[in-house]
Amino acid sequence: MIDERPLPKPDHDSEQYWAAARRHELVLQQCEACAKFRFYPRSVCPNCLSDRFQWKHASGRGSVYSFTIIHRPPLPAFRNRVPYVLALIELEEGVRMMTNIVECHPADVYIGMSVEVTFEDVTEDITLPQFKPLTQGGRS
Ligand SMILES: [Zn+2]
Repeated sequence: MIDERPLPKPDHDSEQYWAAARRHELVLQQCEACAKFRFYPRSVCPNCLSDRFQWKHASGRGSVYSFTIIHRPPLPAFRNRVPYVLALIELEEGVRMMTNIVECHPADVYIGMSVEVTFEDVTEDITLPQFKPLTQGGRS
């Protein structure tokens, strides 16, 4: 098979995140001490070092903070996917996520573009949160 992309391996800190993704829900850790959201999932707040947090549903909306268009596949598994967009999304909650922009032509992506989460079920265990242009009032 060509489509054998390397996939995330959920661990103690991230298993809730990946379980939510399987339900097509985007969740973030929110620190109970300073209320800041953080991404990626980890055991300690990078802002105040508290280990108390709750999982919160994210809005799933954000904007493109930065991006690049990948033309040369980094691994054979990506050879049928180029060109694709690797982007840093700033979520409404204030955290930035590395992800792909899908469901639009790479040339149409721009910094500041409004996006919303979408989910790609890859295997039984792994669903990847990705982002697509925000649809407003049924238009895209
Ligand atoms: Zn904190």
